[in-house]
Amino acid sequence: MQIVETITEMKRLRLQLPEPLGFVPTMGYLHEGHISLVRRAREENASVAASIFVNPTQFGPTEDFEDYPRDTKRDLAMLEEAGTDVVFTPSVAEMYPERFSSWVEVGKLTERLEGAARPIHFRGVTTICTKLFNIVEPTRAYFGQKDAQQALVLKKMVADLNMNLEIVVCPIIREPDGLSMSSRHVYLNQEQRWAAVSLYQAIKLAEELWAQGERDAERLRQVVIEHIQQQPLAEIEYVSIADTEILEELETITSSALLSLVVRFGKTRLLDNTILK
Ligand code: AMP
Repeated sequence: MQIVETITEMKRLRLQLPEPLGFVPTMGYLHEGHISLVRRAREENASVAASIFVNPTQFGPTEDFEDYPRDTKRDLAMLEEAGTDVVFTPSVAEMYPERFSSWVEVGKLTERLEGAARPIHFRGVTTICTKLFNIVEPTRAYFGQKDAQQALVLKKMVADLNMNLEIVVCPIIREPDGLSMSSRHVYLNQEQRWAAVSLYQAIKLAEELWAQGERDAERLRQVVIEHIQQQPLAEIEYVSIADTEILEELETITSSALLSLVVRFGKTRLLDNTILK
């Protein structure tokens, strides 16, 4: 496995990588969720690249950029074990040199849900992904359904801007108790970690009601909210039942819907979602 820190070196190496190339962008502090993307990329491509870059432009001024967990040595061992050929680990100065001033914005889709809660977040995500796609030139890039809105936004960007790659969205990987895996779980204390399972339990309750024929979005939202509110440590930020493509909130579900939620435990924001279909 080769480790590359500069854009010039990554572009040079790219010329030698066999086609098709699968690419997994990450912010590091890897877990089984990230590794599932690498495995899928390995299955579907002749070569696999990953990146580790904690992207400052997708964090708001009061968010956890400085504290974001980092362990590059461990990440590299996990990526090698999973069959990665190249890892791109640029510095912030390499990706955002002085006087950097160009941004990619996707519009409407980025104003809802996570975009409403984190105003500059998606501009940072779409800009860094565009840069990474231009540098790595992958055939396919792999993202997790864990960040459902991010996956939709990136698909929209690739379609709108005629980018020459395919976005592949992979299933959410969960802990044995159902909590969706996240690098940010290190911030949780033991009580918060135990209480966090309520997100998954609430999703399961909604899925059961959905299977029994419930199509009233407000009733489904209420079931989720009431279950999570039983945990005194949980602070609900939003529970959304929205159209699966444009993310507009629904009253009645006709075909399918994205149920997504964000719950805070102390300063830690946990996201989860499921598609009701
Ligand atoms: P991050 O390092 O948090 O930026 O995540 C990098 C990629 O891994 C994104 O495409 C995430 O959606 C994906 N990912 C993170 N957690 C999970 C998970 N539990 N299951 C599946 N994919 C995940």
